Amino acid sequence: MILPIVGYGHSVLRAATKNIDKDYPEIKKLIEDMYETMYRANGVGLAAPQINLPISVLVIDADPFKENYPEGEGFKRAMINPEILEIGGEDESFEEGCLSLPGINETVIRKNKVKVKYLDSDFNEHIEELFGIRARVFQHEFDHLQGKVFTDRLSNIRRAFLKKKLNDIANNKVRAAYKMVK
Ligand code: ZN
Repeated sequence: MILPIVGYGHSVLRAATKNIDKDYPEIKKLIEDMYETMYRANGVGLAAPQINLPISVLVIDADPFKENYPEGEGFKRAMINPEILEIGGEDESFEEGCLSLPGINETVIRKNKVKVKYLDSDFNEHIEELFGIRARVFQHEFDHLQGKVFTDRLSNIRRAFLKKKLNDIANNKVRAAYKMVK
């Protein structure tokens, strides 16, 4: 089922998310719906607050970036209650966008190496080291679980420049190619 996506300005995007446990109802169905919603909108990641749920769940499918990897492999993960264990490597610049901020693309600097711990959809724990684009997409989605969006990471000058665009999204004046929450 395709779910409507929450736009910038909605309070759920600023809320701290809650961890969930095995009692959470129909988690596999939710994850399936999150993937479907993300694919429909041509996204590479989606976090639960973006579908109006303040819980610690994210999905990633960085397949469109597989050329960036020597092994040419995609990267598809559903992560429950993710944590960052270590962050390091080098600063890398890359142009990001976000399904909750349609029409905005900005260069964001992030570390290119992150070690993460998370539960999969069967609630099995994994520890994984992510590099490059994988580390980037993860950090972007992880930010959503902390109530952050990528424009928070821009300079004050850059954010001031985007103010009108951000206000337009918050006031439902921006049309996206996918269904958004009114
Ligand atoms: Zn986003």
